[in-house]
Amino acid sequence: MNELFDLYQDIILDHNKRPRNFRAMDGATHAAEGHNPLCGDEVTVFVKLNGDKIEDVSFQGQGCAISRASASLMTGEVKGKTLREARGEFERVKAMLTGDNDEPVDLLEFGNMASLSGVRRFPARIKCATLPWHALDAALQDGGEITTE
Ligand code: ZN
Repeated sequence: MNELFDLYQDIILDHNKRPRNFRAMDGATHAAEGHNPLCGDEVTVFVKLNGDKIEDVSFQGQGCAISRASASLMTGEVKGKTLREARGEFERVKAMLTGDNDEPVDLLEFGNMASLSGVRRFPARIKCATLPWHALDAALQDGGEITTE
């Protein structure tokens, strides 16, 4: 269990240090800002839709390691997916992050996203991990700003 925890830490630290798709996007069709006042996280998610497919997705912002790693992992996860697939992914990730602490996480299903499951033991950090997903969801709805409370 400790080894798994170390591995998780490594994934989070790596994505925090070298976040993937961390850039503003020219020609984004959708964007939204997310704020998590409890922690001070701010993230802007950019999406380029082609039909109903997420052709490109990126983010910018500042925040804690959890929020940055979650945003970085999310962009890798939803890129190339359809809107429907991305929404399904959001629901599954949300359920995983807010799930019962004792419930095992399916590593095959979540891959590196599972590294964020540790937040279940720290309720105050759950919003850090879900913030980028809420911002993505807001971008795909109407855009604008969202605040997690
Ligand atoms: Zn945070």
